[in-house]
Amino acid sequence: MKIKAQMTMVLNLDKCIGCHTCSIPCKNVWTSRAGAEYMWFNNVETKPGIGYPKNWEDQGIYQGGWTAENNRLALAAGGRVTKLARIFNNPHLPQIDAYYEPWDYDYGSLITSPVKKHQPAIRPRSQITGNSMEIQWGPNWEDDLAGVCETGAADTNFAGLDAQKYLEFEQAFMLYLPRLCEHCLNPACAASCPSGALYKRDEDGIVLVDQARCRGWRYCVSGCPYKKVYFNWKTGTSEKCIFCYPRTESGMTTLCSASCVGRIRYVGVILYDAERISQAASAADPKEIYPALVDMMLDPNDPKVLDEAEKQGISEAFLKAAQKSPTDKLMRKWRLALPLHPEYRTLPMVWYVPPLSPIQTGTENKNPDEALSDMRIPVKYLANLLAAGDEAPVRRSLKYLMALRAYMRSLRLEKTPDKSILDQAGLDGK
Ligand code: SF4
Ligand code: SF4
Repeated sequence: MKIKAQMTMVLNLDKCIGCHTCSIPCKNVWTSRAGAEYMWFNNVETKPGIGYPKNWEDQGIYQGGWTAENNRLALAAGGRVTKLARIFNNPHLPQIDAYYEPWDYDYGSLITSPVKKHQPAIRPRSQITGNSMEIQWGPNWEDDLAGVCETGAADTNFAGLDAQKYLEFEQAFMLYLPRLCEHCLNPACAASCPSGALYKRDEDGIVLVDQARCRGWRYCVSGCPYKKVYFNWKTGTSEKCIFCYPRTESGMTTLCSASCVGRIRYVGVILYDAERISQAASAADPKEIYPALVDMMLDPNDPKVLDEAEKQGISEAFLKAAQKSPTDKLMRKWRLALPLHPEYRTLPMVWYVPPLSPIQTGTENKNPDEALSDMRIPVKYLANLLAAGDEAPVRRSLKYLMALRAYMRSLRLEKTPDKSILDQAGLDGK
């Protein structure tokens, strides 16, 4: 067993209001520079939707074919063969128009615009070129335009569901998905870098770009299936989320977490067995990746694990952090949080608690299975987003959330708490 510590984040999607407050301090502190204008280390997407960069989930076509299957083959070949192959194949990269640019409104049109069906009729215009555009692009454009959006890859955006059905008013659903680098256990960005500039820190698992070694090949950009590495046109090097390491090293949380209005973000340390990375990442069935990930996480309160971790040189500070870690509980102990697109096989470490929709359904409906079928966001959609299409872990997590809400509600209303609610959801009554 090779024990490692990993910085992790869990985001509770029930609580995200899409306000982008998280993105702003990150932008101001880390990417407010020439060459980095278009970069958002943290962005918030409307789902189902095209995302940032456009169609990033369309692994096979738009982004140049870094498919989950390629990733599996790369692993099987120790990363090397595919790394060389990709240099000569020159993979497609997202172009600048796949990332949104700042826009403004021509407020003069409030007075001068011709009479239209709906007034006032002002169009967004680019802050860079000044041009008005019939269709612009930006964060949450899908809900801003109420479905009248450019749906280049509808099947991907709706994760295999019938897009037309869910664009009908009564069936429409949405959620906000904040995204940052996943600081993967098996980072494809590092595997695809010919210069060895991308590396994963041994002490806390944060993935960084060594600016002195980066030669601007940009294979990390095409290699990252989450499209969370960006090329700085001024410096000629790649950049990415640094998990606010200057802050976390001094005991502070990340800027996105500190500023989050919805308090949806939990930051903490987990312990895991690094010897099981290849096994988890190369599982024959993508549905086996999430359970394998949970299995490789270690209980930081188990004396045997602690003893071994100390022997292997994990610092006392990290061990204490793991013992108090909310992410260890949400990911491993309670299994409430799930990884984003585990089928990409990079073993992501930013996980999500799936949203109830609406929240009240669960608390008012005694039968959890019936309540699940009442959810506005189809369980299938969440399963495709967070569990490689396997509905079982999503159902378990949603039932858990409903049961906890019902239980806490009965406590608040000073009723005798009904512990059978928790048993029904497969909990241990604690
Ligand atoms: Fe690398 Fe992308 Fe994983 Fe971040 S999300 S560690 S950039 S592969
Ligand atoms: Fe969501 Fe929090 Fe970001 Fe607002 S600040 S968009 S609630 S993650």
